[in-house]
Formats: sequence, C-alpha cells, structure tokens
Amino acid sequence: MTQLIDLLTNTHKTAVQILGEFTESQIQAWPLAAANFKGLEKVEEKSFQFDGFQIRAQFNPERMRSSVAEVDKQSIAARKCFLCSENRPPEQDAIAFGDDFLILVNPFPIFKNHFTISCNRHIDQRFIPNVKNWLELSAAMEGFTVFYNGPECGASAPDHLHFQAGESSFMPVTDDFERLKPSGRILFSGETTKVWAFNDYLREMISVETSSMHEALKVVDLYYKHFAAMQPEKMEPMMNALCSFSNDKWTTHLFPRKAHRPTHFYEEGEKQILISPGSVDFGGVFILPRREDFDKISKEDIVDILAQVCVDQDIFLELTEKIKKDLI
Ligand SMILES: [Zn+2]
Repeated sequence: MTQLIDLLTNTHKTAVQILGEFTESQIQAWPLAAANFKGLEKVEEKSFQFDGFQIRAQFNPERMRSSVAEVDKQSIAARKCFLCSENRPPEQDAIAFGDDFLILVNPFPIFKNHFTISCNRHIDQRFIPNVKNWLELSAAMEGFTVFYNGPECGASAPDHLHFQAGESSFMPVTDDFERLKPSGRILFSGETTKVWAFNDYLREMISVETSSMHEALKVVDLYYKHFAAMQPEKMEPMMNALCSFSNDKWTTHLFPRKAHRPTHFYEEGEKQILISPGSVDFGGVFILPRREDFDKISKEDIVDILAQVCVDQDIFLELTEKIKKDLI
C-alpha cells in the first residue's frame, strides 16, 4: 500500500495536494462519499460572537450517527467495528502511514477534506501510547489539524484507535490562538517550547508551541500524568486534543474535560439539544445534526454546554500549576 511519506518524497507535492487528490478520487469511486461531500456544500452555518473570538454552529444531518453513537461497553460489543478492515466498505481506499495507521476518507464529512486515521489493529482508543504517532502524523499532514477524541469525549469507536484530520483553517481555534496568546497565562517559556493556559476561552485550554518532538512529548506526558491523578476512576483522563504543524513547529491544544455530554443531550422535547462535543466543537465549530437544534441554539446554550463538559476553573488552576511547577 502507498505510504504518505513516499508520496511526499517522490511526488514533491504538498500533503494538502496529495490528500486533496485522495479525497477527489474517493468522491469519484464511492457514491456515499460523493453524496455526502456534495451535501457539505449546502451545510448551513451561523456564528456567535464572544469576547475576542467566535464560535460557529454547523447544521450537519449526516453527523447524526456520530452524535448519538452509543459508546457503552454493551453497545460496542454488539456492533461490528466500522474501522476494522474486514468491515469497511469495499470502495474505501487507504494511504498508509507507517506500519500501524491507515489514512481513510471520512464518508460523513465536516471538513472539505476529512480523514479518519485508523490503526490497522483493533486496539482501544488511548492517548498517551500514541502521542508520538499523533505528532508525526501532524508533521506529515501539514495544513491539516490532526485531532484526538478520548473514549468518553466524542470518539464513536472507543474500542478502535483512531485520529481524525481536517483543514486547519476551518477551525476558529487556529486563528484565535494567535490572537489570544498575549492574554494567556504562560506556564513555560523556553528556547524551543512555550506553554500557555487559557481560562477565558469558554473552554479551558492548554496550548503548546514547540519545534522539539522531545519537548512536546515531555509537556504532554506531564499534563497527562497530573490530570490522570485527578481523575483516578477513569480509564484515561477525559480530553480532546488538536495538533497542527507549520513553519517547523507543532501547535497542540489540550482540552481537559469532566463530562461526556451536557444535560441538554438527555433532555426531552423542546429542551433537548443533540450535541456530543468532541475536538471539532472544542476547536470552535458546534456540530448539530438536527435542524431544530441549529435553529434554537443560543449564545447562553453554548456557554452552558461548554461549562458542563469542561473541567472547573479550580481544577484547571490546580492542574496547570502542577504542570508549571514541573516544567521550571
Ligand atoms: Zn475495529
């Protein structure tokens, strides 16, 4: 199978070109992908202005199966894993990344180019053993943001290790970060690495900018170690994580969480909003599969939803101070 790294070396094309052509070839060969990428052209969006940044809402009916996916043990055991090779549609092609990962076009897109990067073995969705893969993927997929949804934080296949990726320019967090940097709380500032904490972004965010793989791994390890100790009952601390690579630097955003879904998800009738926040929502685009939710969602709902799923301010302060202490 063709390796992304070989394509980058041999064709002298960028990752954006290579993966854009890959999406196009899948649209030609696969009617489901063709219909859903075409549908994306008509997807509706609206935006909400907050203090110094925006959050957009996207009405995307094809994301229903992902938003309402049952991810409890029994439901997972009762279904065929849609990321295992033997269950994938025959039209779905792949580009390999190293020995362990396959880059697949996601047939239920949010982005103009939307990929699922799936492990070629059926192993659990876990962050820390795969951080190096995540950073390497991000570096190879320059122009895209590679993101991780924890098993209880938006992953619809918590039993099968995977990342997703879409254009970095699509998510507001990419620009917000550049603008908000001066107001962030600096946790560490070294020659090759800077770490910030953001308290006033509706969602608690730790951001790392570094040109060093080694230092990126060190910061993420520290974050994980301290956060895991604060959520000892969890299989891994609840989180979403985004990573992009440009100008020889990685930018990663880590979102520590306390809940899988907000109460809105479980309400009935008028009060219900079907939203299951994951990395894209944390990146600043709320994905709403139902028209009525898209029509009625308010600024206050967005504030409330994020407050319900993010860690509380005091926990965030404790976590970031521990990281800061260890980084000095
Ligand atoms: Zn599987």
